[in-house]
Amino acid sequence: MNCRTFKSGGIYIKDCKFTEDFSVEIMPMPGELVVPLLQHIGKPAKPTVKVNDIVTKGQCVGEADGLISASISAPTSGKVKKIDKHPYPGGVFVKSIFIEPDGKDEWHEGLNGAEINVENLTLEERLLRIKRAGIVGMGGAGFPTHVKLVPPKGKKVDTVILNGAECEPYLTADYRLMLENTDEILKGLKIISSFFPDANVFIGIEDNKPHAIKVMEEKAGRFGFELVPLKTRYPQGGEKQLINAVTGRTVGPKQLPFDVGCIVHNVATARAIYDAVARNRPLIDRVITVSGNAIKNKKNLRALIGTKFSDIVRYCGGLTQKGMNLLVAGGPMMGKSQYSFEVPVTKTTSGILFIKEGDVERTKERPCLRCGKCELVCPANLKPGLLANLAQTKDTERAEEFLLSQCMECGSCAYVCPSKRNLVQWIKYAKVRNINLKKEKEQTRKS
Ligand code: SF4
Ligand code: SF4
Repeated sequence: MNCRTFKSGGIYIKDCKFTEDFSVEIMPMPGELVVPLLQHIGKPAKPTVKVNDIVTKGQCVGEADGLISASISAPTSGKVKKIDKHPYPGGVFVKSIFIEPDGKDEWHEGLNGAEINVENLTLEERLLRIKRAGIVGMGGAGFPTHVKLVPPKGKKVDTVILNGAECEPYLTADYRLMLENTDEILKGLKIISSFFPDANVFIGIEDNKPHAIKVMEEKAGRFGFELVPLKTRYPQGGEKQLINAVTGRTVGPKQLPFDVGCIVHNVATARAIYDAVARNRPLIDRVITVSGNAIKNKKNLRALIGTKFSDIVRYCGGLTQKGMNLLVAGGPMMGKSQYSFEVPVTKTTSGILFIKEGDVERTKERPCLRCGKCELVCPANLKPGLLANLAQTKDTERAEEFLLSQCMECGSCAYVCPSKRNLVQWIKYAKVRNINLKKEKEQTRKS
């Protein structure tokens, strides 16, 4: 297979795709759903329901607030029991709508109908359906899709890329989608490409998924799309890395894909777009991978948004050992460790990992050896060691001179660091500190 890849940095890691042969199961309805009003980049949605309201499946329970925001729909029919702050996988407390399912799973009027001929809809009508469905980038970014589909004035998109790389170890949700929902994904990609009629359309899949490459390639030709096999190399699925691998173009620091004529969407997002436009179905569930050696039964699950991790643990047979296990929302490289099993599945939850306490390496950070390995593997050409030093000395504003905000938090630097420095944590700390400093300065200026 002639595989393409990105130029700078990157690492080779064991892919641990233990669940690749497990078909997607439907997670049974839990006793309670906790639906956060912030599951995307931007402003939280505004609640449109009150406590004790009866809601139907797909009904809007939170409307997008402003340009960069996304609406939220009820994942099933039932009663609104509470609206309150609740922990969510992002690590903070978010205002959430607690729904007690009524067991009828009754759709809101007009939603989830039979497939219509999308050609009969104008581009405005397609965009409106995507917006109403509350679709966001489901690969993890969470950027509202209806915004991403309309490039800023003066930016011309000549290349659409479907991201089927799924380069994070353990995760197989996108892989299973490509095998089990091939047609819906390709139809979703056709809808995406209809916004850019002159663009070439590519599908990028890593070569550790030969079955998905075969299945998608067999059908892609009918739509006029080209399949591009990619080398299995982390982080091949990073937006900038994927663009570089597929087109050879470089998205520079502080540039966006639009700046080099590209737009990238994840396979789960494409599937959700098909559901929204062709069937008028909002985004109320998603496929997640449940894996790791601390969970009894590993699975790929289609779970409703708002399903708590604790319910998923029960459905998967419980944990293999009691006590402290590491719980991660997402993959091991970019996922976020969790302190509560009560966090819910959101639109961007691609997986949940349960790792045995004894298998988590806990090494003290040692001084930097100045070996330069972190710089060699950084796909963004940054100086991770220096950024961490600046964070440790609280010189975080200076870190911006060294492109701190361009760090995609891929974890490659920390993975190779022989001194086991917590490079990504320090970089995250520096970013948050700078946001807070900016807010403080803004407040001082106003007062
Ligand atoms: S890899 Fe670690 S030890 Fe080597 S230069 Fe980077 S931070 Fe220092
Ligand atoms: S986490 Fe950031 S600094 Fe480290 S390798 Fe990835 S992009 Fe570079």
